[in-house]
Amino acid sequence: MVIKEDIIFKRSKKGKKAFNLPQKDDIKTLFEKYKDDIREYTSEDFPNLPELSEVDIIRHFIRLSNMNYNVDLGFYPLGSCTMKYNPKINETVSAFSGFRNIHPLQPDYTVQGALRIMYELSEYLAEISGMDAITLEPAAGAHGELTGIKIIKKYLESKGEKRKYILVPDSAHGTNPASTTLAGYTAKTIKSNKLGMIDIEELRKNLNDEVAGLMVTNPNTLGIFEREIKEIAELVHKAGGLMYMDGANLNALLGYIRPGDIGFDVIHFNLHKTFSTPHGGGGPGSGPVGVKAFLKDFLPGVQVIKNDSGYQRKETGDKSIGKLLAFFGHFAVMVRAYTYIRMIGKEHLKSISENAVLNANYLKQLLKVAGYEIPYDSIPMHEFVATGAPIKKKYGIRTLDIAKRLLDYGVHAPTVYFPLIVSEALMIEPTETESVETLEYFAEVMKKILKEAEHTPEIVKTAPHNTPVKRLDDVYAVKNLKVKYEEIEDKNERRDS
Ligand SMILES: *Cc1c(COP(=O)(O)O)cnc(C)c1O
Repeated sequence: MVIKEDIIFKRSKKGKKAFNLPQKDDIKTLFEKYKDDIREYTSEDFPNLPELSEVDIIRHFIRLSNMNYNVDLGFYPLGSCTMKYNPKINETVSAFSGFRNIHPLQPDYTVQGALRIMYELSEYLAEISGMDAITLEPAAGAHGELTGIKIIKKYLESKGEKRKYILVPDSAHGTNPASTTLAGYTAKTIKSNKLGMIDIEELRKNLNDEVAGLMVTNPNTLGIFEREIKEIAELVHKAGGLMYMDGANLNALLGYIRPGDIGFDVIHFNLHKTFSTPHGGGGPGSGPVGVKAFLKDFLPGVQVIKNDSGYQRKETGDKSIGKLLAFFGHFAVMVRAYTYIRMIGKEHLKSISENAVLNANYLKQLLKVAGYEIPYDSIPMHEFVATGAPIKKKYGIRTLDIAKRLLDYGVHAPTVYFPLIVSEALMIEPTETESVETLEYFAEVMKKILKEAEHTPEIVKTAPHNTPVKRLDDVYAVKNLKVKYEEIEDKNERRDS
């Protein structure tokens, strides 16, 4: 069913409402009466709100949600994003009123359960990663990167070292150079070799006493494990730099490899990827950072400690990089990650990565048989990258067209045009939660699209055809950026269906 839905303001009708106030006052009178008390949260004038009945509101949002694609609806092989199925028990637990209805400023003795979760989650993450101390404060992966690089900077500066550069491989996620820059360093790109791994000679050439560290995603964004990581770590350490691991791909390593054991000093986790909180669409994430003991004093904000009287929050000392958030991080995401780890259990954590890697390898093989080319074709870990370049050359069909056509078959598109070192990239991460039937269906659809590219290319070029919103004109949107609905409509420039 294709649904149309306008913005909620269009449904507004004067006098409609979804509530009854106990007094005769109407909402405007109340606003005037209490304006001074709520000034912190609102403007001087009564806000321009749509007027609707409860039914109108519910239908509006349910319609919108029905237009959305999500991981509970179907396959979502978005490479690098680890869009795994999120067990519903996590939601149940995080919604316990003892977790949901607490406030960060409550005294410690009233929130012992919550503090225990934070304490134990930190312990689990330390054990999983081979690190000595954890902060749960960062709000997402990129925020974790910023935290980690700031820690490196403060540590080096405490030794009187003013270094300038962070080295970042050319396969890195865009957040790596961005966080580096924000933390006050300059990012320098290191080329990959023919195997898609860090080129050690390139690294050697760039290492000197101006380099603060190396940021590595391992396995990298091609899904390839950096096999020379120990040697790389040795070289970086010898040059006085630190090793930062972007842990977004930890789903490939759980229970097998601990980043702290292979030379990394700092790591961030993406709890919303590896540890199963729903994400995408800007929902809350959580990007804890783990460090080796010598960096412990530089951690931000507040640590939860355990002593005779229970669990306590403790401010970090003078060396700390300071606070990054108003409070203590995204607690509900921590509860989900904690529940997930406890439900799976220490001895089965490995099976997450085993199945993630098995699924990626099986799917890669199916796609090769279907006629897709894999440029850095080794045995991948939890994800792999195909290229649409030959298809573009042969039929004029771009990777973007393939991605859009997939939507017509009820599948979310993979990540496209990333990593940048593969032209017309299709980056595919099936995760461990998909069945063999789902993988085979996806390969079947990809094969069909390849046939369409050859015989009926127009269908692919103009896809999607079955979705609520059809092909958008991205270039037009970027060049004529308008964020106000009225503005767009006045000029009759709405470009959806
Ligand atoms: C997702 C991702 C990030 C950024 O994490 P966010 O939680 O989205 O901020 C960084 N690096 C890699 C490799 C990623 O996949």
